[in-house]
Amino acid sequence: MSSHHALCFDAVSKSYGDVVAARSLSLTLAPGEIVTVIGPSGCGKSTMLRLIAGLERPDHGRIDIAGETVADARTWRQPEHRRVGLVFQDHALFPHLDVARNVAFGLDRMPRAERRERVAEVLAMVHLGHLAGRYPHELSGGEQQRVAQARALAPRPAVVLLDEPFSSLDENLRARVRTETLEVLRSTGTTALLVTHDQTEALSIGDRVLVMRDGAIEQAGTPSEVFECPVTRFVASFMGDADFLPAHVHDGRLDCEIGTLSTDPAWADLDRDVEVVLRPHEVALLVDPSAGSEVVAVEYHGAFVLHTVRLGSGRTLRSWQQHSVRHPVGTTVKVTVVPGVTPVLLEGENAISGPLPSAAAGTVGPSSG
Ligand code: ADP
Ligand code: MG
Repeated sequence: MSSHHALCFDAVSKSYGDVVAARSLSLTLAPGEIVTVIGPSGCGKSTMLRLIAGLERPDHGRIDIAGETVADARTWRQPEHRRVGLVFQDHALFPHLDVARNVAFGLDRMPRAERRERVAEVLAMVHLGHLAGRYPHELSGGEQQRVAQARALAPRPAVVLLDEPFSSLDENLRARVRTETLEVLRSTGTTALLVTHDQTEALSIGDRVLVMRDGAIEQAGTPSEVFECPVTRFVASFMGDADFLPAHVHDGRLDCEIGTLSTDPAWADLDRDVEVVLRPHEVALLVDPSAGSEVVAVEYHGAFVLHTVRLGSGRTLRSWQQHSVRHPVGTTVKVTVVPGVTPVLLEGENAISGPLPSAAAGTVGPSSG
């Protein structure tokens, strides 16, 4: 029935007193799929992983792992009998065990010779074969992370759960460990759910991204879907920087303070207030002494320079400019949208998807920003 899924959540709920940490979550992961989970602190990311691992019991719903039900109203499979590997932020290695014994930990039901072989195999996979005899305190943060990963993968789990696995690593190390981790997950065809609070990480690692809010999945989609077609204002502002401008659709045009952003003959009969979502890479600046907008802040990021511009209305937009471009504070600029960009439109809290409904079809949302 669902045996072709590595993981299946069917309407899974979990509350702690008044706090709903999982709000009827439904989700399936295909074998080999890597899904990243992102959302504000306290939205239920770790709870989702703990439910899968069997560290929490759902109040309602069903969880299947590799086609087998591990939790529902009648079924409860203990954590050690679920085919799940766990990697935590703090690595959680056993300090009194050397690397090889840490990795062998979940293999106690394996014959000794086979176990030794498997430990050597996974240590080689994470390039740690030469450190098998070291203790955790003799390892760098990146090496500890790789041991934790080897330990999780050793029993050949159906799903690996990683909860902010790179958070304790410094910036330089993080990029490398992230790449190596991804290589190991891919080369072993491992299905993984990876929690992160880093938007770039969520977008660059995942085949799919789950954006969570308040115990629910607000949007599940490919990285480009959640970034380019956010379904709500929340997703738009959570997945990358976004500014919002009141706009108006009428006479076949989408108009806002910086001009006509697009035209569509299908909008001929419309008359609706909306908002446009503008990301800094979509906003273009042109020095123009007669224009009504002014650069109010310039932030140097190295490869790119973030310019903040105040429009005539007092609203501000941000614009990424190439490294070589500097418009000093006080420069008067004309603000437009980069050619080819079709901005996302919001009505109230939700994005408008597909053709705009006719004016008679619904109420007009608030347009203040
Ligand atoms: P996240 O990992 O997204 O930061 P969590 O899943 O840890 O969020 O927590 C979700 C919500 O559930 C939070 O409000 C948190 O305080 C609450 N919570 C988590 N675990 C417990 C617990 N064992 N007892 C009571 N409340 C909990
Ligand atoms: Mg957490």
